Amino acid sequence: MNTLLLKVNPLKPDAKKIEAAAQIIQRGGLVAFPTETVYGLGADALNPEAVLALFAAKKRPLDNPPIVHVADPKEVQRLVAEVPPKAQLLMDKFWPGPLTLVFKRSEIMPKVTVAGLNTVAIRMPKHPVALALIRQSRCPIAAPSANLAGKPSPTTAQHVYEDLNGRIDAIIDGGATDIGVESTVVDMSVDPPMLLRPGGTPFEALKTVLGDMKLHPFVQAEQELSSLGEIRSPGMKHKHYAPKAQVILVEGNVSAVTVKIRELAESYKVTGEKVGILATDETQTAYHADVVKSLGSRSNLSTVAQNLFRLLREVDAQNVDVIIAEGVSSDGLGLAVMNRLRKASGYHIVKAE
Ligand code: AMP
Ligand code: MG
Repeated sequence: MNTLLLKVNPLKPDAKKIEAAAQIIQRGGLVAFPTETVYGLGADALNPEAVLALFAAKKRPLDNPPIVHVADPKEVQRLVAEVPPKAQLLMDKFWPGPLTLVFKRSEIMPKVTVAGLNTVAIRMPKHPVALALIRQSRCPIAAPSANLAGKPSPTTAQHVYEDLNGRIDAIIDGGATDIGVESTVVDMSVDPPMLLRPGGTPFEALKTVLGDMKLHPFVQAEQELSSLGEIRSPGMKHKHYAPKAQVILVEGNVSAVTVKIRELAESYKVTGEKVGILATDETQTAYHADVVKSLGSRSNLSTVAQNLFRLLREVDAQNVDVIIAEGVSSDGLGLAVMNRLRKASGYHIVKAE
């Protein structure tokens, strides 16, 4: 399949190019597009064949449903069984934006789109290209991240191209994404609501609105699932964000982390292995390794989130054997960053003290 590339101005996308992409969606095709979080791979959410093709293109397991994207909060009504008052509060406050809400689904949702569950995850993105595409397509768009399953999520059209060129109909290139990690997923089908995946909307901001709210134990897990209770979000149990190289995450206070990483890097070097380090602005110069990149300042976790997936891909592209990453604080967007790094490491976590 020949993948069409459509370059647009992210703030004012060319109507003709959006129309071309919308026609592909309406025909049951697959279009990658930028959102404010990461690039999504879209298909008509109400067309089961299109959604099946979406899973196939990504090599995504059929038991892990995509998020359904809408361009208007009113669209939610026909997709869900009910909108709980607390969900309405969150939609009023955080939509459009990086927040996905899980509702009890309505009968119109095809089984494949919800992976056989009785719930559906919905979000209204803020990105002008995403909104224009959904409006022109005149249907809700099912869109998981536009990467091959298991790879770091794409934050540029180039990342999408690397993973999916020849496997999808089109890529809309709207430049690098702003937030860099995926949306926060909150289950509103239970009370109190439960955060299933940390992301672009901070837990702290949600608690301010909801008061009572739970964090699924998996969000901050330091080991494989098993002992952590019921799997509430199918995505929890799948391998994620993994570069080719083994990732090692070093957590602790910054000086202890720096010492530990220097030690680890040295020990890999003597065995002839090529080492990459994901450092921060504050520590970057302390390391000597084959590849050293900074995620940004420890005091600006939004920048760290923005850079995370791109740098995982960039270091991996240098064919290192091991990537040693620094842990950061779990405040704000740090909760999402740490969740992704722990998963990327396959829970290979070293505590520095
Ligand atoms: P992605 O589309 O790749 O950003 O991943 C979507 C995330 O939302 C995955 O972690 C899914 O498991 C999760 N998700 C989608 N639908 C549901 C649902 N009905 N209930 C719980 N989690 C869901
Ligand atoms: Mg994904």
